Amino acid sequence: MAEREHPADWERCEGCGALVYGKRWTRTLHVCPDCGHHGRLTAPQRLDQLLDPGTAEPLGAVPALHDPLDFVDSRPYTERLDRARADTGLDEAVLCAAGTVEGQPCVTAVMDFRFLGGSLGCGAGALVTHAARTALARRVPLVLVTASGGARMQEGVLSLMQMAKTAQAMAELDEAGILTVSIITDPTYGGVAASFAALADVILAEPGARMGFAGPRVIEQTTGESLPEGFQTAEFLLAHGMVDDVVPRVGLRPVLGRLLGLRTPTGPLPPGDTDAILRAADDLAGRDPWQSVRLARHPERPSTLDYVRRLVDDFQELHGDRLTEDCPAIVAGTGRLAGTPVVLIGHHKGGNDLGERRRRNFGMAGPAGYRKANRLMRLAAKLGLPVVTLIDTPGAHPGPAAETGGQAAAIAENLRLMARLPVPIVAVLIGEGGSGGALALAVADRILVSAHGTYSVISPEGCAAILWKDPQAAPTAAASLRLHPGDLLGLGVVDGIVPEPPDGAHRDHAAAADLLEAAVTAALHELIPWHPERLLADRRARFHRYGSGDPADPAAADRSQS
Ligand SMILES: [Zn+2]
Repeated sequence: MAEREHPADWERCEGCGALVYGKRWTRTLHVCPDCGHHGRLTAPQRLDQLLDPGTAEPLGAVPALHDPLDFVDSRPYTERLDRARADTGLDEAVLCAAGTVEGQPCVTAVMDFRFLGGSLGCGAGALVTHAARTALARRVPLVLVTASGGARMQEGVLSLMQMAKTAQAMAELDEAGILTVSIITDPTYGGVAASFAALADVILAEPGARMGFAGPRVIEQTTGESLPEGFQTAEFLLAHGMVDDVVPRVGLRPVLGRLLGLRTPTGPLPPGDTDAILRAADDLAGRDPWQSVRLARHPERPSTLDYVRRLVDDFQELHGDRLTEDCPAIVAGTGRLAGTPVVLIGHHKGGNDLGERRRRNFGMAGPAGYRKANRLMRLAAKLGLPVVTLIDTPGAHPGPAAETGGQAAAIAENLRLMARLPVPIVAVLIGEGGSGGALALAVADRILVSAHGTYSVISPEGCAAILWKDPQAAPTAAASLRLHPGDLLGLGVVDGIVPEPPDGAHRDHAAAADLLEAAVTAALHELIPWHPERLLADRRARFHRYGSGDPADPAAADRSQS
């Protein structure tokens, strides 16, 4: 043990140097009350903090080679191992237990950095795999808490194999539809970062925690470049789409409780309110399409987050495409809508505040937004959760960065994924349904449009400029494009209309939210009991029919009448 440089019963914060009284240090979960620095925890302390009191059930030892290479550097590896065991009271750098978090059962594997820097060797790999297999056998989620400097050199290439072994265990949980969550603590590097830590369905990071494959010193030595402030920290990783959220230690249990409690909804469910969805456009007859366009764009009109705040309980927003960034124009997460667990994804325009609208890029998503949506939809499929999408976008972002980021491919991937996603999908055009950027969230089993929503292949202004050579012709173009809810119903592109409060949703967000909830619930309750084969067959038939002239194509019937 290192010599204590401070009085007994006091702890020194590694962040700011402040002395914190021991009992207070315990109460704050080893987070500095002055600077917020998250102090390092031992694995037993972490289990104590994370699991509900009295529920921890240690998982037994598993066989593994301890010194496969008879390795000796300045000292025999076995001596180092013995020393680590004596110092920590642990057998290995991983401690596993089953238990509950906020009443939700799970299996957890927690790393301890004190044990040879949390390095990943045969023993640690065996324990992580054992935890995953136990979660699989019990069909409960796996929670991993990582802290590691990388692979254990003294075990040579066999330590490298632990990355593949643990990745394989994670893949088995994916196939079985079992949720995995990793909690990144400082530091998480090398083989751990590049295997189970990064493969979890949901990756949470403690504030300031660093994660990466190569450490900053190695990068600076190799490249001779100095790295930006905050490089590889949790906040940096969030901005670059690598983690779902940065969660302070005090918030981990509530967030985990929400995630671990997600259950596949099963039918039969009570039928929803049959009047919640309008199947005829009589109420909308005579409305000027240009008026619809203007109302759909009204800055005070509720957008995705406005509805989420009113309708979704226990919403847990998940961020990032795990590749480049977190697109602010698309919001995605899990929660319960009228009691039904769902994955909710939607464009968010940012409301009436210009700064926020700019930050949200006016609801124009880039490729990272569509990839985030794609990731969340695959999670929904894995967990058997229905998907609800709320569409409100002028279109995908037109810009060089979006193009070099692969905008077209990102949209195309969503179309293909949604076509075959084996869970119910309900899409609502809550405002502007602009072009491919809208369709990328709208390949669904039930497609609804708000009474003042629109859906169009191009903006009326864009169409007018190209075909009429006159942007002033936009109202004429709006009528010709037939983007109005009544027309969309006639074309069979939407199944129904979600009513809005008199004069529009922007007049009364609460009433608009109630109407949306009733419509989405009615659609979900109809679809949830359906077998995936029926969902996929219907969805395939629907999109195959469009524009075919087939008698079942409403657009064909519409033409024969006119
Ligand atoms: Zn501090």
